[in-house]
Amino acid sequence: MKKTKIIEGRACPKCESVENQMNYGFNRSGTQRCKCKNCNRLYTLNPKTRAFSDEIRQAAIKTHYSGVSGCGVGRIFEMNKANVYNWIKKAGK
Ligand SMILES: [Zn+2]
Repeated sequence: MKKTKIIEGRACPKCESVENQMNYGFNRSGTQRCKCKNCNRLYTLNPKTRAFSDEIRQAAIKTHYSGVSGCGVGRIFEMNKANVYNWIKKAGK
């Protein structure tokens, strides 16, 4: 019989599977490490996935569309520019 284990809130960042995500010890800062049994990807759980509120996100996107570059938005809102580009990409869909 095939066993399928689903742990809530856990998904593989590579194949996006929520099944067969196993615990795989902890990293140096005590964050839970996980392993995807489907593609063998190792990853750590990040409890701070929503470090910025929707309000800040909307404001950042708005600022970008008013003519500020992603880098500039990052500087204004004191966040990683990769963050900003991610939001812009998502908002553009
Ligand atoms: Zn995977």
